[in-house]
This record gives sequence, C-alpha cells and structure tokens, in this order.
Amino acid sequence: MSDPKRVVILGGGPAGIWTALHLLRLHPGLSVTILEMQEFPGGIAGSFKAHGLTWDLGSHRLHPAVSPGLLGDVRGLLGENLLKRPRNGRILLEGRLLGFPLSPADLAQHLPPSFALGAVFDGLTAPFRRRPGADATFGALMMAGLGRTICRRFYFPYAEKLWGLSPNALDGEQARRRVSAGTLGSMLEKLVPSSRSGIDKRSFHYPFGGFGSIFTAAARKVESMGGTLLRGAVVRSVTPPIPGSAGLIGYTGGRGDASLPADFVFSTIPVTGLVPALTVPVPGEVRAAASSLSYRSMVLCCVVLDSCQFSAYDAHYFPGPETRFSRVSERQNYDESRESPGSTGLCLEMPCFRTDPLWSMDDREILAIALSGLTAAGLAVSGVKAFFTRRITEAYPSYPTGWHRHFGEVDRWLAQVPGLVTLGRQGLFVHDNVHHAMEMGAAAARCFDPATGWDPLRWSEARKLFRKNVVED
Ligand SMILES: Cc1cc2nc3c(=O)[nH]c(=O)nc-3n(C[C@H](O)[C@H](O)[C@H](O)COP(=O)(O)OP(=O)(O)OC[C@H]3O[C@@H](n4cnc5c(N)ncnc54)[C@H](O)[C@@H]3O)c2cc1C
Repeated sequence: MSDPKRVVILGGGPAGIWTALHLLRLHPGLSVTILEMQEFPGGIAGSFKAHGLTWDLGSHRLHPAVSPGLLGDVRGLLGENLLKRPRNGRILLEGRLLGFPLSPADLAQHLPPSFALGAVFDGLTAPFRRRPGADATFGALMMAGLGRTICRRFYFPYAEKLWGLSPNALDGEQARRRVSAGTLGSMLEKLVPSSRSGIDKRSFHYPFGGFGSIFTAAARKVESMGGTLLRGAVVRSVTPPIPGSAGLIGYTGGRGDASLPADFVFSTIPVTGLVPALTVPVPGEVRAAASSLSYRSMVLCCVVLDSCQFSAYDAHYFPGPETRFSRVSERQNYDESRESPGSTGLCLEMPCFRTDPLWSMDDREILAIALSGLTAAGLAVSGVKAFFTRRITEAYPSYPTGWHRHFGEVDRWLAQVPGLVTLGRQGLFVHDNVHHAMEMGAAAARCFDPATGWDPLRWSEARKLFRKNVVED
C-alpha cells in the first residue's frame, strides 16, 4: 500500500488491542496507532508488577464460554502458556464458607435449612409469580425469576454492594446483562459440572504470568506487524476526520502535549470522556446526556504477605454486607507461579462511587478495613509485608433506571459522526466480559476497509449480536 490510511485507536484495553490486531491482519501495511494512558496494555484486564509479584486488576479469568476462534487466537499468541485451570473458589453465604462454583452436595450439607426450604418453595411457586413488564427494574425481574429467598438473602445484598444502588433503583437491563442464572432453572443448571451448553463452567483459561500477558503478547504482535502502541498517552481532544480532511487527536505523553493526524478513529475510552473531548460542536442535549452517565468505581487493596500461600483457593466471594470488599483473589494460585519465594499477594476488590469516603481514604485506613473484614470472615491474615492500593475509575457502567435514555441520546448522535466509531465496554457503556470486548474489536476491524471506509450496516448487525452478550462470572 503506497499511502496507507492512518487509523488511530483510543485506548489499549482488550477492545482496542484486538481492533488493532485484526485491522493489521486484514490490511497489512495499514498505519495503526493505539493511544493508551497506562504504561501497560490490557485496560482493566491488564497486569502489572509490584513488590516482586505480578498483579491483575482484580480477579480475571478467560471464561470457557469464549468462542473457539477467539481461543485459537489467544492460543496462537501464548502457546503452552495458556493454561486450563479448575475453578477453586469459596463464597461466604450466611456466615459459612462454601465451595464456589456452588455444588449440590455443598449446598445440601452447609446451607441453613430455612434457605434451602425457602428456595424450594420459591421454585415451586414460580409459575404463579407475576410476570414483570418490559420496564421492570432489576429487583422485579430477579424476584420474578428467582423468588424471595435467593434474592433477599443472596442476590440483592450482592447487587447493592457491587453496583451501589438498591435493586429497585437498578434498571432491568442490569439483570439481563449481568445475571446468567436469572431463573431457578438456569441456576440449577449451573450447579451441574458440564451443563447442556457443553461448556465446563468449572474451569477457566488463564495465561501463565498474569492475565495481562494476553494483551502484552497481542501488543507485541501488533508492533511486529507495523502498528504502534503509545503507552502513557492520555487522549485530551478528538477532532474527527471529515471527508477530504484528516482528523486530529491531541494527547499528553511522556514528552508533553502532542497530536496525531487520523483518517479514521476507533474509540474504546469511556464515552463519558470522549464526548467532552470532541472539538466539533456537540448539541447541548447530547453533552447533558453524556454527563448524566456514570460509572461505579473500585478501590483495589493489594496486600503482600510474608508466606508462600495464603490459602489453596483462587478467589473468595463476599456477597454480604458484612465486608466492604466483594472478592479477594490470590493471583499466584491462578497459574501456580511462585514468582517471589516467601511472598504471596491478595487483591481485595472494594466497589464504590468516587463520591464515597472510601475513594479518597489513605492506604492505611483502607488496609485496616480490609484486614478487619478478613478477620470477620474467618480469614484473618498475618505477616503483612507491604500493601498499596490501585483505583479503577470506570469499573462498571452504572445502570440506574432510565440510564438507557441518556446513553441512547449519546449513541445515536455519535453514530452519525463520520470517521469515528466507539466500541468496547467503555465505548458502548456495557457490562461485558473480556472475550466480548475482544470480539467487538475483531468485528469492528471487519467493518473497516481502507479503500471503501466504514460499513455501518455490517456494524449495526454486529451490535445486534453484542446485545445478546450476558456476563459470565
Ligand atoms: C474487577 C473486575 C473483574 C473482572 N473480571 C473479569 C473476568 O474474570 N473475566 C472477564 O471476561 N471479564 C472480567 N472483567 C471485565 C473485563 O475487565 C472487561 O470486559 C474488559 O477489560 C473490557 O475491555 P475494554 O477494552 O472494552 O475496556 P477497558 O479494559 O476499560 O479498556 C479501556 C482502555 O482505555 C484506556 N483509556 C481510558 N481513557 C483514556 C484516555 N483518555 N486516553 C488514553 N487511554 C484511555 C484505559 O486505560 C484502558 O486501557 C472484570 C472487570 C472488573 C471491573
């Protein structure tokens, strides 16, 4: 290609990296540059090193629901380093630690009889519950599907902890997107090791050396094909291209402010950041709609322990209100790497809003909350060698009732901006898994052709398929 089009991708998370990878495979010689504000690729699914250990940003696994094609892609990048591992977690339910994923034997043995009897009663009476309408809230949908016992004693407190809103203030879309076992039938099916889908939900894929290795390897591949990943580059302004004139992306990098010309822009950065960064006139109602969208954030409390292993489990889940954290993972158990002799690391996930006091607390106070929660859960730790925190600003898109009107307004307007497409978790403001974000990137690349430009119809078909994605936990 004598004069390759210049494609700029905003954000080097799974969606951005996969867009680049597939663009370069489909169109060798295309000029592709990724602007990523972190020093490492992979976004929320990336990994970093600290205190001699590799850390993921909270527990990350490649779910077995990943398509064979995508799995093949990842295997092609990692070879033998892509491990298949049995899930080995525990969950604190009603004061008892049970194996997770749940098993019928464990439930029968450890659940209080009132819980089990209540759930059976709810199952038998399910056909008589009122069917929720199309605008039902998360609470109404879950109550209709699962009944009072599981909702009140498990799902509702968990939802409130993760997403920060009461079940009836959450939009029904949250249930459709996030709860793969939304009825008792599907929940029971999940208890069977190899379900009707043929997917063994009791295993997962994990790359040796940290989840982010997938994206480090993919970024290397992108660079080997002539693409560029600019790390530490924070996008500040976006002027989309117009026919006959290139766009311009302003960013701040290691050498200060800079800009890049762009003939086409893929944006995977939060849509709430993209709209204010646009230099073209944005209608007031679109700006207002974008600023009405918000994200649930997360503080990660990372604790280095003076021992080889804290427990034999990969992750512990805490759905109840008795702890401030929702999950604790020991990454070294995900790949059995004992990378720093005599040390292991725990990562505690604490969801919050940026307006919550937790967000701005100092590390010592956060550690105190973490340690007292672990003690209360019967998992007291000793021998803390070091600790630090990391903050994820955009952990989950927040879906209060009516959010989709705001997102719809923004999305419809962005769709008619030429030369700019938004995708990924942050670009489409969607709850998703890593494999969904990667598939979105691959699909977006297929809708682009340097000679003929963007294919909006093909993209609209792809987006219809994305709407069917349900998050696997
Ligand atoms: C705690 C937690 C645990 C999870 N665990 C799993 C799991 O086990 N399995 C699973 O399948 N999924 C999991 N997920 C979901 C998974 O992390 C996401 O699906 C995936 O990261 C989405 O990829 P993305 O590229 O769309 O977005 P992101 O990962 O958010 O990437 C967006 C990128 O844009 C960059 N960016 C943002 N603003 C700018 C800017 N102004 N300039 C430059 N760059 C910018 C960010 O730094 C980031 O790299 C988890 C999510 C969370 C929060």
